[in-house]
Amino acid sequence: MPVITRIEWAPLAGERPRLAGSNARLGVHGKSVTCPLARVTTSDGVSGFGWSYISREEAAAWIGKSVSETLEEIPFALEYPLWDRAGKLAGKPVYALADASLSALSIPCYDTTLYFDDLHLTDDVAAADLIAAEALEGVARGHRTFKIKVGRGGMHMPVDAGTRRDIAVIRAVRAALGTEATILLDANNGYNLNLTKRVLGETAHADIFWMEEAFHEDPMLYADLRAWMAAEGLSVLIADGEGDASPHLLEWAQQGLIDVVQYDVLRPGFTRWWNLGLQLDGWQVRSAPHAYGGVFGVYSAPHLAARIRGFTFAEIDPAEVDGLDGSAYAIQDGMIHVPSLPGFGLGLDEEVYRQAVAEKGFVAE
Ligand SMILES: [Mg+2]
Repeated sequence: MPVITRIEWAPLAGERPRLAGSNARLGVHGKSVTCPLARVTTSDGVSGFGWSYISREEAAAWIGKSVSETLEEIPFALEYPLWDRAGKLAGKPVYALADASLSALSIPCYDTTLYFDDLHLTDDVAAADLIAAEALEGVARGHRTFKIKVGRGGMHMPVDAGTRRDIAVIRAVRAALGTEATILLDANNGYNLNLTKRVLGETAHADIFWMEEAFHEDPMLYADLRAWMAAEGLSVLIADGEGDASPHLLEWAQQGLIDVVQYDVLRPGFTRWWNLGLQLDGWQVRSAPHAYGGVFGVYSAPHLAARIRGFTFAEIDPAEVDGLDGSAYAIQDGMIHVPSLPGFGLGLDEEVYRQAVAEKGFVAE
C-alpha cells in the first residue's frame, strides 16, 4: 500500500467577477476569495491536490501513513488531494469512480450571486431592477436557475420594508427571466414562519422551486409551513442544512419535513457526501451540497451527481483563482459540464503554487 511522502500547502488568492453584497445575517461578502490547496504525493509517485486547511503539524503527522484504497474511508483532513489522486491513479475523473460507465457529466447548476447588492438604494423599484439586471448577467454566463437572497428585514432593513423589498425583487427577477427559468430563495434564517408565509404567498405566481433556510430548522414550524403550503396549493421545496445545522436535520429529512439537504461540500466534506447521498436517495430526499465560498466546492460538488440520484443542483459562486485553472469546466444552458480529465480536472500553475508555498505555506516530507 503506498504511503504519503510529501505534503505541500498554500492558500491561493482569487476574485469574484462582481462584489457580493450582504445576506440576512452577514455584511458584504466582497470580491476576494481564498482557496487553500494541499498537494499530496505518495510513494508510488502519484500526486493529487485539492482544498484543505491542514496545519503544518497535522501534515507532518501524515507523512509515512498509508493511503487506503477504500474511497468511503478517505479521511477529511486530506480528502480533496486524495480524491484527486484516486482519480489520477485510475486515469479517470472523480465522477467515473462513482460510475465507470460515465464518459461525460453535465448537471443542472444555479447562479448563487444574487445578494443584497441594493441596500444603498431607497427605492424598491430601483432595487428590484438592480437585482433583475444581475440575474440577466447570469443568463449571459449560461445560467437558467437563480438563487435570490432574501430576508432584508432580518437585520439590514426594518422588517416590513425589507420584506416588501424581497417581494419586489422576486417578482422583478421572475419578470426579467421569463417563465422557463428556475428561481430559488435563501433567507439565511432571516425570516420567521409568518414572514415565510407572507413572502411565498405574495410571490406564488413567481413559481419558487425551493425555500432555503427560511428560519432555523424546527420540526413544528416546518410541519406548519408544509400544511399551510398544501392548503394554499403551493409546492415549494424546503431546503436546509448548511452551516451549524441541527443534529436532528437528517431525522427531519427522513420524516419528510425537509426536501433538500444542503450540507457543505467542504465541511463536512466530499467523503461525507459520498456516503450520505445514498442514504438520502433511499429516503427520497434531494441532495444539493452548499458550495458558496472556498472556490473548490464549485468544481468538486458536481462530481457527486454521478453517485447521488437525488442530486438536484450544483451551486455556482464564480471566481478566478491565480494559479488554479478551472477552464475545463463550462456552464451552458443551465448545466455545468464537468471535464473528463483525471481527478477533479483542474490545472495548477507550478510556478504560482511553489511561490505561494514558499511565501505563505509549508512543505512536510
Ligand atoms: Mg444558503
